[in-house]
Amino acid sequence: MSKAWYPEIDYNKCVGCMACNDMCRHGVYKLNEETGKPKVVYGTGCVHGCHGCEKKCPVGAIHYFGDDGTLDIDYDFDSYKPEIKCEGKPKVAFVCVHNSCRSQIAEALGKKLASDVFESYSAGTELKDHINPDAVRMIKKIYGIDMEETQHNKLIEDIPSPDVVIFMGCNVSCPNVPSQYAENWGLDDPSGKSDEEFGKTIQAIEEKMHQLKKKLNTI
Ligand code: SF4
Ligand code: SF4
Repeated sequence: MSKAWYPEIDYNKCVGCMACNDMCRHGVYKLNEETGKPKVVYGTGCVHGCHGCEKKCPVGAIHYFGDDGTLDIDYDFDSYKPEIKCEGKPKVAFVCVHNSCRSQIAEALGKKLASDVFESYSAGTELKDHINPDAVRMIKKIYGIDMEETQHNKLIEDIPSPDVVIFMGCNVSCPNVPSQYAENWGLDDPSGKSDEEFGKTIQAIEEKMHQLKKKLNTI
């Protein structure tokens, strides 16, 4: 973990209520299926000074490793603006397991809606050999973008090191990609579902893209 500050769980106290996971929108926790309790899977995503999970924990099982978290930031997810240190525009990586559907949609919409503020990339931890055909069809229909022409399936190591990582909501396995800021958008995979469900996911991604653009815009 490159950040010197992240939450730790005292499992002797933890009762597995998952309030910490529900609270955190930065991809830090995930359910450990074997124990029924959360585990810290992306400590670098922890926003220094948010303290949300610590306050939510009913049994005082969460403490923070590294320092005491007294940075005391004025944290509210919607208005919080991370300070990203980078040359030029920040590089944002949209990540899901197969880089086939949600992350590809996000890359397309990031390029269309936010290229003046950040660079958009997408990647997965395992590869499929094609982009989801329903995603291709819907994005062409709604935005006139042909993702088969402009994008392809990629692994994390195939894209530049990101400054910001957005997990689309993968529950299976999330890579620990170093970044300065992370969010987990918690979106279900619409693969195999109706056009209506696809439409809802695409709309949610568009809304979140506008919010992310606002967060990362320094002007
Ligand atoms: S302190 Fe905030 S950002 Fe860090 S793990 Fe807890 S809820 Fe997530
Ligand atoms: S909020 Fe506390 S008790 Fe609940 S799962 Fe998290 S660490 Fe365990």
